[in-house]
Amino acid sequence: MNIAMLLAQATARSPLSPAVFSATDLYANYQQLEQRVASIAYYLRNDLSHQAGDRVALILKNCPQYIEILLGTLHAGLAVVPINAKLHKNEFDYILANADVSSIFISAQFADTFPASQANSTPVICIDSDRYQSIMAAPALDLQERAANDLAWLFYTSGTTGQPKGAMISHRNLLAMTMSYFSSVDQIDNGASILHAAPMSHGSGLYIFPHIAHGARQVVCEQDGFDEQEIFTLLQYHPKVSLFAAPTMVHRLVNSSLSYDPASSHLKTIIYGGGPMYVADIKAAMARFGNKFIQIYGQGETPMTITCLTREDHGYHQHQTNKDSQQADNILASVGTAQLPVQIKIADTQGTKLSNGEIGEILVKGDTVMLGYWADPAATNQSIVDGWLCTGDLGSLDQQGYLTLKDRSKDMIISGGTNIYPREVEEALLLHPQIDACAVVGKPDPEWGESVIAFVIVAAGGTLSSEICDAWCIAHIARFKRPKNYHFVQTLPKNNYGKVLKTALRERLLTLEKL
Ligand code: AMP
Repeated sequence: MNIAMLLAQATARSPLSPAVFSATDLYANYQQLEQRVASIAYYLRNDLSHQAGDRVALILKNCPQYIEILLGTLHAGLAVVPINAKLHKNEFDYILANADVSSIFISAQFADTFPASQANSTPVICIDSDRYQSIMAAPALDLQERAANDLAWLFYTSGTTGQPKGAMISHRNLLAMTMSYFSSVDQIDNGASILHAAPMSHGSGLYIFPHIAHGARQVVCEQDGFDEQEIFTLLQYHPKVSLFAAPTMVHRLVNSSLSYDPASSHLKTIIYGGGPMYVADIKAAMARFGNKFIQIYGQGETPMTITCLTREDHGYHQHQTNKDSQQADNILASVGTAQLPVQIKIADTQGTKLSNGEIGEILVKGDTVMLGYWADPAATNQSIVDGWLCTGDLGSLDQQGYLTLKDRSKDMIISGGTNIYPREVEEALLLHPQIDACAVVGKPDPEWGESVIAFVIVAAGGTLSSEICDAWCIAHIARFKRPKNYHFVQTLPKNNYGKVLKTALRERLLTLEKL
């Protein structure tokens, strides 16, 4: 079984349907896409003599070619290594060496970083070159058979701490994720579109598969970076549009001063995930765009597939007859219920199952869980114990199976022997109309073990002080959880996927202290 079979199936059904767009320009229909994919596969296996299972790196910003190289590599029986194009050169080098790649596809902007003939002779193919164009004249290679557990995608974790690790994602994992999209996340109707506004090396790229499976359009934004104007325009142009966005992107769409006309927009679904979405923020998002939101919780180690907070879950709080607004808020503060292919268990540090309501590590089992970490059996053994993936995230399940994330275990604060979950404090602060964003971390404290510190971005035109924030927290959360100190900042450090780097904030605290 080769996950690239999805393309052949969709093409057989509807060869002339539009497949790939660069913004509003048609790049290829399904038949053309399949031809290009089969030629790339031929080139990799015959011209470059790659062997089944070899790894091919993609260092490309989002572009139409991303889709054909990704599928061509898989079609050829090879594995893809999509690398976030915004990483530092040292990080590229680390991943390329760690994955021991056999060739690299790059965009023109990296031509100086990766000269065509590297010292180690790894072929580098620039998608803007004549060489790339000539590949399309190669004959078609037949789809190469793979075992379900063969490596398909080496997903390098975003590495908010330490070096990134390569989660080995198999063809089976990708198929289970694809089927889970239809059973637990959303339907993809005939003639639908996915808008790739987020990096295709991560969630947006993974969602290529369910959309190929249903013969949808893949629309790649032309602007470098997330551009609200372009997104609003493309939402008017393409039919039934879904997009995957990190919470920071949703925040930008909500706060955009550009006019958005729901009547002329074909927005179907915004699927968000990858980081915490606060209740106040999702309510604001629904107020602007309507009930178009679905949240997923996943990680590279079980791509896009742990839980889902459905459209219906989002709509619950708007329901006329719903009197229990606290329950509705609890649902919105959760990440939803288990997606169909996975089982979830909350466990203590010994791996023993905890009861509903108790907080522990989230463990996951199912066909989406990775094979292990590339070339790192020690990390694999730490991560997968008795078939359960240890996510490193803390959370609790309620009676109906809704999972509420607390924090990553390393971000939890223990003050005076009591656990404090930064997310709860952040949720409370964000209810304040003058707080635009915030992040709460623990700081070593001789008396308490750790104390709670908040970094706060004040909304434009707002005036806030530590005293005002403190009074606000007293009104909203237990006194012992409230921050001891506030740092008012202009920005929060984030990685390239928009996740706040709490390690960097903790380091910043140590520096501030030395001043
Ligand atoms: P990555 O492997 O880079 O996709 O990062 C996965 C991590 O992001 C998870 O282990 C969570 O800590 C966090 N994450 C993913 N989805 C969500 C979500 N919906 N809400 C909060 N955190 C999330």
